[in-house]
Amino acid sequence: MTKAEKAAFILQTLEGLYAMPPVPLTHRSPYELLLAVLLSAQTTDVKVNEVTPALFKAANTPQKMVGLTVEQILGFVRTVGLAPGKSKNIHRLSELLLERHDGEVPETLEELEALPGVGHKTASVVVAQAFGQPAMPVDTHIHRLAYRWGLSNGKNVEQTEKDLKRAFPIKTWNRLHLQIIYFGREHCPARSHDLSTCPICRVVGRKSLLKQFGEKR
Ligand code: SF4
Repeated sequence: MTKAEKAAFILQTLEGLYAMPPVPLTHRSPYELLLAVLLSAQTTDVKVNEVTPALFKAANTPQKMVGLTVEQILGFVRTVGLAPGKSKNIHRLSELLLERHDGEVPETLEELEALPGVGHKTASVVVAQAFGQPAMPVDTHIHRLAYRWGLSNGKNVEQTEKDLKRAFPIKTWNRLHLQIIYFGREHCPARSHDLSTCPICRVVGRKSLLKQFGEKR
């Protein structure tokens, strides 16, 4: 199977499984989404969605957020991973949005990545989901699946992003990102398992996985 054939099969399968994938992080504005994505590093979306309603009730704009202290922000997000650092970043990022962008979330990757706690993946999610710009955010799960599906060589997330962008039409990127996330959560257990039961790997999975993961096929 060529890479193009694999990509077409994967797209068709994911479209069949997740025709309208919802954005998993609850938000009502680009600012709320930015904070939710920042909070989601090393934490589940479920956990983030548990803490953000109270945080956003207290402060849902940069103006209101800078009125809170870092300790008060920490009080709202304490149960998510890396909470002390994230609380500091949320406070400083809100100050910078006021200083540099009139309190608005900027729409470019470059401006977003200049904010504390906002890496390339976070910025990509924000431009895709808040502003509808085509992006391909790659986290470790998507990176791993792209390798298993033979779409990338597994070198690093930067290379995987380039390979996925080359493999799939630009208009599919934003939905595809969510579809792969949902697929990984629902279908891909961490431990060895039977590839013949997988709707994607049974068709496109690398043969070397059989040895590597002890999976049957
Ligand atoms: S075989 Fe396993 S790892 Fe590969 S896509 Fe299917 S469920 Fe995920």
